[in-house]
Amino acid sequence: MKMLGLIGGMSWESSAQYYRLINEGVRAARGPTASARLLLWSFDFAEIEALQRAGDWPAQTVLMIDAAQRLVGAGAEQLLICTNTMHLMADEVEAAAGIPLLHIADPAGATARAAGMTKVGLLGTAFTMEQAFYRDRLAQRHGLEVLVPNEADRALVHRVIYDELIAGVVSESSRATYRAVIARLVDRGAEAVILGCTEIMLLIGAEDSTVPLFDTTALHAAAAVNALLESD
Ligand code: GLU
Repeated sequence: MKMLGLIGGMSWESSAQYYRLINEGVRAARGPTASARLLLWSFDFAEIEALQRAGDWPAQTVLMIDAAQRLVGAGAEQLLICTNTMHLMADEVEAAAGIPLLHIADPAGATARAAGMTKVGLLGTAFTMEQAFYRDRLAQRHGLEVLVPNEADRALVHRVIYDELIAGVVSESSRATYRAVIARLVDRGAEAVILGCTEIMLLIGAEDSTVPLFDTTALHAAAAVNALLESD
């Protein structure tokens, strides 16, 4: 089994899900005592979040490259960034690390396409919904038309992620808000919705939507398990 390097702590609430899902996947494939060979670099997210708010992406790229190189130095052979937003600098991180990086948008995009979807909604942080890096990857590599919520809905979705989910708060009223945002995307033609933030799966599930939801945390973790096991 390859050694997986996870860049996490963004937030630790979702990294904990990755740790569980990846180990469950290896156990399911290999038997009850089997578990993943992995290394986790876990940031203090307060430091990252302050840089995000300040718009200082170059400083975050330096920190991400440093984390990746530490993981490679410790033996990582396959890299995972456990957040959608921080794929903004995925290419730079992969180039500096010199080992393959499994991009989070790819398992989600491939799964949506395999399910026959062509037009998908995207929920995530404002950075993920509004900047081109993520939508373009889904469009260019997976042929998906991507709809994002309107401005007011984007602000709501973003606020719930940072003020609640990252802080470990899961509330019924925010679940209702997300259900309404998803319903508006479906009204505009979304055939499915990509949960493009690794904490959203803590709040909503299939029962909150009339169309399929593609959870990037679960799909990314499953792709990581495949990458680990296919090396044997
Ligand atoms: N985990 C989130 C994501 O998937 C947001 C936190 C971050 O900015 O990294 O985008």
